[in-house]
Amino acid sequence: MTVHDDCEKCEELLQGFLDRELTGAEVVLAEAHLDLCDYCRRRYKFEESLRHYVKLSTIERMPPGLMERLVDLRGLESL
Ligand SMILES: [Zn+2]
Repeated sequence: MTVHDDCEKCEELLQGFLDRELTGAEVVLAEAHLDLCDYCRRRYKFEESLRHYVKLSTIERMPPGLMERLVDLRGLESL
């Protein structure tokens, strides 16, 4: 069994992790995996900064084209 077997599970937990909606056991699981897995850690950092940005500026106030750029960035991140 490799670290990456857990990636799928970690991805499921990621949104809840960012929303602080996970149970204690799930948080432990997600943190343990993020600790081991570069890929998921980068994903997590990216999602976290995206959320931070979205929180600061509502969609309405975003300059035209910015959302598209963020989506593009997200596409690149998963390559
Ligand atoms: Zn992973």
